[in-house]
Amino acid sequence: MPYLPDAMPAPQPSRDDAPFWSACNEGRLLIRHCTDCERFSHPPMPSCPHCASTRMDWKEVSGNGTVYTYTVSHHPTHPALKGHNPYNVAVVLLDDAGDVRLVSNVVDVAPEDMKIGLPVSVYWDALAGGFQLPRFRKRIESDQSKGEEQ
Ligand SMILES: [Zn+2]
Repeated sequence: MPYLPDAMPAPQPSRDDAPFWSACNEGRLLIRHCTDCERFSHPPMPSCPHCASTRMDWKEVSGNGTVYTYTVSHHPTHPALKGHNPYNVAVVLLDDAGDVRLVSNVVDVAPEDMKIGLPVSVYWDALAGGFQLPRFRKRIESDQSKGEEQ
């Protein structure tokens, strides 16, 4: 069951972000990357927001990140959310994509347990319409093994 109701609007891929959504449907997180200044950007655009180059490609990233900030919504902001439990909207700073932050949700953390700096990893949430959305789950094992290596 998806984190938010199936009646929520599905993505409408455009020419600029269609490769992002196609990769999501394959369970891969692709982020737009500039081959001139080597910086990442999101959402996908035809030119680099840092140096204006149009030489852009895509890089697959791990899907690991941390909660940069979040909010918990108790009010339905869309008719499909009427009667739905409180849900979080999280801004996730990706570990391996510069300063790129994705607006998403953390699916397995109660509102009172959400916190800034929480380590998370991508979770592919399948919608009834066929899309897979990149949402996030609390990251536990990889975090502990990193601590033991140091
Ligand atoms: Zn650039």
